[in-house]
Amino acid sequence: MKLVIASNNAKKRQEIAAILKSQGFTLVPVDETIAVEVVEDGDTFAANAEKKARAFATANGCAAVADDSGLCVDALDGAPGLYSARFAGDHGDDAANNALLLQKLQGVSDRQAHFCCHIALILDDGRLVTADGQVAGKILDQMDGTEGFGYDPLFYCDDLDKTFARADHREKARVSHRGRALQQLQQQLKRGVSHD
Ligand code: IMP
Repeated sequence: MKLVIASNNAKKRQEIAAILKSQGFTLVPVDETIAVEVVEDGDTFAANAEKKARAFATANGCAAVADDSGLCVDALDGAPGLYSARFAGDHGDDAANNALLLQKLQGVSDRQAHFCCHIALILDDGRLVTADGQVAGKILDQMDGTEGFGYDPLFYCDDLDKTFARADHREKARVSHRGRALQQLQQQLKRGVSHD
């Protein structure tokens, strides 16, 4: 089945593509994908992921998968959460988002946080398959590492004992919120959500 990935983020695409290719989907290359501007105004990660996947499925006339993800910091009552990509204002300004996070946590001793990911897959008959993943960690008081994207240099992953920005993409995918959601999605597809 042909499948588009509803994301312009190359790192996210890489992580999603690896799993879904192994499930027999034929991925449409990014330069052949009709991209749609989707306003992420849902109240939940799930609502935003489904909205993005449905919009891309309709525009491209085939199956589509989207993830919506974010960082939830305990001491900030779950912020930046749904607004992770535009915490500091501009969508996807990782440097500004990290700087604002450090500023908000200055002098705060509770550094607990987790990443959440919700995945929505719309099959070509319109059926929705969903999966979720989370990973726990702490927010450091300075950046550490250069791999990955977003808040990776500030997120010290409990399972890896280092920041995501110090992990290579395979290590990260094994324990990350997105990796876990994708593993759950893979299990569901294996269990018989047929897509032939
Ligand atoms: P989305 O594209 O609306 O799902 O935005 C997700 C935002 O959450 C990204 O722009 C990052 O700021 C943050 N985020 C999500 N997943 C990760 C990750 O794996 N590492 C670092 N930041 C992430």
